[in-house]
Amino acid sequence: MARTHFGFQTVDEDQKAARVRGVFDSVASRYDVMNDLMSAGLHRAWKAYAVAVADVREGDRVLDVAAGTGDLTRAFAQRVGSRGVVVHTDINEAMLREGRDRLVDQGLALPSTVCDAEHLPFRDGSFDLVSVSFGLRNMTHKERALAEMARVLRHGGRLLVLEFSQVAPPLRAAYDWYSFKVLPRLGQWVAGDAESYRYLAESIRMHPDQATLKTMMKAAGFGHVDVHNLTAGVVALHVGVRC
Ligand code: SAM
Repeated sequence: MARTHFGFQTVDEDQKAARVRGVFDSVASRYDVMNDLMSAGLHRAWKAYAVAVADVREGDRVLDVAAGTGDLTRAFAQRVGSRGVVVHTDINEAMLREGRDRLVDQGLALPSTVCDAEHLPFRDGSFDLVSVSFGLRNMTHKERALAEMARVLRHGGRLLVLEFSQVAPPLRAAYDWYSFKVLPRLGQWVAGDAESYRYLAESIRMHPDQATLKTMMKAAGFGHVDVHNLTAGVVALHVGVRC
């Protein structure tokens, strides 16, 4: 059995998805408030930036992968109008349900579908834009997920990957202190779960850096990939054009 990372641990590949499911089952109901607290609201600015770069138009067909509570889904749905479609998807039912309830409360009735990014249940070329925000890091076979996202995009369509990345060297010590000392305590205090937030800090360290992810996207079928560093590389937005 091949092995993979779950944070700093090495686990059998077939165990990772269940471990990740455990994390998001545990945090789903406190996910949004924790996002605001642990990023001091910055995740809103990172997502707003991604939405601005996405520049979706009326009538566009958009797939939000690992969409969770649906921040990007909602922003895209407000832009595609009644002729377009935004599909809200996640592998985790608890996260998807939180998101769907929030979308409905905001007057948006969209298709919400449980699905694994590594096996997307859509035809080739179905979408103009695919987004995955803070999701890729958790996937077992990232190359397979990227290839699936390329497959469901039309030629010339774009993939947006918003994800934690490698922070600029002068900030590393402070960022490590915050990630490993503060974040798990915040998780314990607000969500009653220090472990899931320790996993978050570890999984960020194990995720491919900006240049490696760009290479992976090119190998998956994206002819051109732009990288936008946000907050000194705490987060990066990769934008790939499907060739
Ligand atoms: N996109 C949302 C956001 O930006 O706030 C949610 C991000 S949350 C940190 C990561 C999400 O990735 C979780 O909801 C989790 O269930 C989902 N996920 C993990 N592995 C996945 C997979 N293989 N396929 C689809 N979703 C996955």
